Amino acid sequence: MNNITVIGGGIAGTETAWQIAQAGIPVDLYEMRPVVKSPAHHSEELAELVCSNSFGADATDRAAGLLHEELRRLNSIIIHTADSHRVPAGGALAVDRGIFSQNLTQTLANHPLITLRREEIKAIPVEGIVVLATGPLTSPPLAQELQNLTGMDYLNFFDAASPIVVGESINKDIAFLASRYDKGEAAYFNCPMNKEQYWHFWQELRQAQQAELKDFERENAKFFEACLPIEELAQRGEETMRYGPLKPIGLFDARLGDFKENKVNGLMV
Ligand SMILES: Cc1cc2nc3c(=O)[nH]c(=O)nc-3n(C[C@H](O)[C@H](O)[C@H](O)COP(=O)(O)OP(=O)(O)OC[C@H]3O[C@@H](n4cnc5c(N)ncnc54)[C@H](O)[C@@H]3O)c2cc1C
Repeated sequence: MNNITVIGGGIAGTETAWQIAQAGIPVDLYEMRPVVKSPAHHSEELAELVCSNSFGADATDRAAGLLHEELRRLNSIIIHTADSHRVPAGGALAVDRGIFSQNLTQTLANHPLITLRREEIKAIPVEGIVVLATGPLTSPPLAQELQNLTGMDYLNFFDAASPIVVGESINKDIAFLASRYDKGEAAYFNCPMNKEQYWHFWQELRQAQQAELKDFERENAKFFEACLPIEELAQRGEETMRYGPLKPIGLFDARLGDFKENKVNGLMV
């Protein structure tokens, strides 16, 4: 059989290429990085996790967990690699993102039926079977072609990327490790704040220097309400953060005694 073309080596394209190759069909997998960079990816690895290192809840009574289990039964390379490189995260399936992507890159590069081509595809190939898996940051020429083909504007939103905090910079006399909702081992750092500290943090956050927006963020300043940047939450009101990432539920400071009485506002990192 002729080669199948997969364009885009993110998590979707990586899984697609692997499944096709495992079925005995040769694949040409095109990934534009590192020749052309995307505004959000940082590495040249396949299946780079752009934001959070979490795949969400892993229990099968949760929607994400059920999908994980279905993927395991379908021999998904993504979920098996995630399972092999998971890091403690309570009830969630979270991974060491660097090793996860490096491992997948090596596995695909070594597959005898997969040819990895580091090249930007600017127009949809007309010959053969083609799978487009170029994700939310499809490169501009190909995105333009898709726009012309469909006659549609983009369907898009702005999503916040999780900040990465250097572990050594955390004052462990103040922050404490705990499991969230008492699930799994104590894997999350929590920074307790009393009411005064919370208001101070909120005020400082509103005046703080902010990350410079990238062009695609400026153009598309439509926020995904389920994943807002913390500075945007702060702008929306004094209490807003307490209903989002700082919600005092499922966390307690064991040093304060009875957890039922001493729930804290905690910033999870
Ligand atoms: C800032 C940001 C934060 C996000 N946060 C989350 C989150 O927390 N949780 C979540 O589930 N999702 C999040 N997402 C969405 C996330 O991108 C997707 O969940 C996931 O990466 C989609 O996988 P994908 O394989 O479809 O796309 P991607 O992972 O983006 O992979 C697409 C690949 O195609 C390549 N490519 C693009 N155009 C071309 C071309 N013309 N030729 C060749 N290669 C090309 C890219 O370099 C990339 O490697 C976020 C996205 C962004 C931009």
